[in-house]
Amino acid sequence: MTYKIITCFFCFEQFEVSLEVGTSFNGNNSEIYDCEVCCNPNKLDYEVYDGEININYVGDGNE
Ligand SMILES: [Zn+2]
Repeated sequence: MTYKIITCFFCFEQFEVSLEVGTSFNGNNSEIYDCEVCCNPNKLDYEVYDGEININYVGDGNE
């Protein structure tokens, strides 16, 4: 479990998300996380390589 701080697409507040990534997983993934402040769904696109997570994009999860 890896924790990352993201900035909400809707209210621009920061909140923490927990990303569960398999140790052998490399590649791109996307998941929806509800903002802790405004409860809107944020869509996270992230990339995993050697257990390192890089968040590429945070956007509207309503689509
Ligand atoms: Zn928010």
